[in-house]
Amino acid sequence: MTDHRTPLDSVLGTVGETPLVGVQAAPEEVPVYAKLETFNPGASVKDRIGKYMVEAMLDRGELAPGGTVIEPTAGNTGIGFAIAAGQLGVDAVFVVPERFSVEKQQLMDALGAEVINTPTEDGMGGAIERAHQLADELDDAVVPQQFGNPLNVEAHYETTAPEIYDALDGEVGAVVAGCGTAGTLMGIAEYALEQNEDTYVAAVEPEGSLYAETKGGDAAEAEYKIEGIGTHDPSTNELFDPDLVDEIYQVPDRRAHEELKRLASEEGQLVASSAGAASAVARHVAEGIRDGEIDAPYDSVVTVFPDSSERYLSKGIYRSFEEWEG
Ligand code: PMP
Repeated sequence: MTDHRTPLDSVLGTVGETPLVGVQAAPEEVPVYAKLETFNPGASVKDRIGKYMVEAMLDRGELAPGGTVIEPTAGNTGIGFAIAAGQLGVDAVFVVPERFSVEKQQLMDALGAEVINTPTEDGMGGAIERAHQLADELDDAVVPQQFGNPLNVEAHYETTAPEIYDALDGEVGAVVAGCGTAGTLMGIAEYALEQNEDTYVAAVEPEGSLYAETKGGDAAEAEYKIEGIGTHDPSTNELFDPDLVDEIYQVPDRRAHEELKRLASEEGQLVASSAGAASAVARHVAEGIRDGEIDAPYDSVVTVFPDSSERYLSKGIYRSFEEWEG
């Protein structure tokens, strides 16, 4: 952790302690604060789990110095793990479905990791299977498995959540976050509910994703452009606990795109589609609290902006909705 005022030995020391910035379009009566995870050295929220999980696995002896981490990942996790692995003397291999952005894959490669692609149509399930096959073929290899490893949740419980609560003197009414593995939301929600069991917790997923089914909701499976959140098979998202969540919100691609463009043009925020979706829902929840439709212990909403739009320029993120490839 850093206060950014003393010299550090490694970029690993700059992971976390990201700023919390108000979303200016939120209602005045119920402010929305976004944790800007682009301030991490690999420019995403996943640097937190890379550092936390590699350090924990080395401490516990589950991973030996000089060993290999093999992870199925949509990209940001690979960058976070690649930074941590490189700095902690471990090799890294990532299995990435083809549809994910080339920028992320180039960064993993630059950080010294090996990238293996799996067919888009096999989804994250196909990438997870391939990662385990590779681990069986190598000596001293572990699959941290961010989709099922409680250390993913713990990283946020131990770092992201206390940072938020410190910044707001504990006065958090609602927590809103997009769910990929759901590590971010679960870690913050667990902490939040310990502080105040009435904290309102909202999960965000793209329309077309199926987390909603876990709370008995109707969800029609469809492709979506929003990157980094959502699932087509909730059974692979083992960390998601619907009991910690009050509501699962589905965001259409068009709404997320409109909001990420608005965040750039009106608020100087260069964030990507999962942040656009989170912002749209966080503002909606804040309005609900203001209008008395949602009960929350404080008049404030916290969300997370996971990564930067710069990572998706090749996919036309700032072009028209139709031209955005997602
Ligand atoms: N947004 C982006 C851009 C991501 O890469 C991820 C991680 N897949 C998330 C949001 C969601 O984070 P989590 O896996 O902790 O739910």
